[in-house]
Amino acid sequence: MAPIIDETHDPKLESWVESANEPGTDFPIQNLPYSVWNTTNLNFQGDHVLVPIGDQFLDLDELSEAKLLNESLFQPFHYGDLDDGARSLMAIAQSPIHVRRSLRKRLVALLSGEDASLRDDSKLRERCLISREDVLNDGVPICIQSRDYTDFYASLHHATNVGSMFRPDNPLLPNYKHIPIGYHGRASSIVVSGTDVRRPVGQQAPTEDGGSPGFGPCKLLDYEMEMGAIIAQGNELGESISIEDAEDHILGMCILNDWSARDLQKWEYVPLGPFLAKNFASTVSPYVVTMEALAPFRCGAFERDGSDPQPLPYMDSEGNRESGGIDITVEVWLSSAQMRDKGMDPIKLSQGSFKDMYWTIAQMVTHHTVNGCNLQPGDLLGSGTISGPTRGARGSLLELTWDGDPFAEPPVLVPGTQRTPIELPTGEERKFLADGDEVIMKAYCERDGFRRIGFGECRGIITPARSV
Ligand code: MN
Repeated sequence: MAPIIDETHDPKLESWVESANEPGTDFPIQNLPYSVWNTTNLNFQGDHVLVPIGDQFLDLDELSEAKLLNESLFQPFHYGDLDDGARSLMAIAQSPIHVRRSLRKRLVALLSGEDASLRDDSKLRERCLISREDVLNDGVPICIQSRDYTDFYASLHHATNVGSMFRPDNPLLPNYKHIPIGYHGRASSIVVSGTDVRRPVGQQAPTEDGGSPGFGPCKLLDYEMEMGAIIAQGNELGESISIEDAEDHILGMCILNDWSARDLQKWEYVPLGPFLAKNFASTVSPYVVTMEALAPFRCGAFERDGSDPQPLPYMDSEGNRESGGIDITVEVWLSSAQMRDKGMDPIKLSQGSFKDMYWTIAQMVTHHTVNGCNLQPGDLLGSGTISGPTRGARGSLLELTWDGDPFAEPPVLVPGTQRTPIELPTGEERKFLADGDEVIMKAYCERDGFRRIGFGECRGIITPARSV
């Protein structure tokens, strides 16, 4: 499972698509994530698989039509006259890892000019490259086709923060350092970046013991900054995926916002865990950054200190210890409706890193299947809120506006009700999200000696609850 660094990661590799060579771009030739877009006004009708490169998109369906992509690497699906890009992407996900690596190498050859057939043919270029602006203006991103969605709780810092609010003396439950905690989410309400999110309605805990629960629009609406892993090849029911093979079963990663209704959650979560507080919407970014593209940014798994238990052997391997982690910088930004009206830029709320997660993606995949549960291509695994050791690295408002600090010496453990609001440049204050707020999540990888790659953005605006 060792991540392979090869010629496709060479920082000197450039594309003839000039904008891909700009240092700040999310999409240099070293990245090449997959996305699916629907459009009626551009080159094509229906859904195509598009690979962002600089300020352009490379159209894999058109490349294939033009016989520049072998059928063994990419198979476009059609329904009559309409192209079905979502199914074509699933076909990529289902191909063995060596085929996915070959597809990446083929795209690099075409975009670097090592194979000049696209670069030197203006008609082909016009057909296979679409400007980012046109796609964003006229196209709609299509969500990855996940049949199932599981959300984990893999950040020790997040679990400790949240645990401290509810159980100040005993923040971490005894199972935490032995199993990656997770719950089964809902695939039907996964939406793609840019989709509005309606404030949910539901039950809230009674204000006094033995009283009746409240009912109405959520009062404590929150986001959770997470990364999602998209499953490639699955496993048969009854079989499991070993820690050594786990990463071959992952197509890649995207940004995930696990919107959370904290007041609904507090009342409903005992004893079976999250339900309606989570399943009203989960937003994903449109680009799947492949595990191959992430290879240069791998790091060791979370370093367990002497008092931490070692993982059981089925979740432990040398490879996982040495390179199971990924150094992905994650940022959360906010803009209120008033800020947008006044032309103000969004403000940054937090910045953390995926390398701080206690459990690795491979451990989550292995643990998920150890009992014989079958993962399927396209399934989404959420990492859990990514929080770090400092206040500025907290990945949810629940933690960010909380006054406690379980890592301070001596620890400051105060009940979860004490909160300092975040001040917005308009003078508005936020402890939780208000209607009209837009949450913008970004993620990228940087490392000396390699090209920076990015995940694009994951956005969503909160709209008012339906009337009850
Ligand atoms: Mn979550």
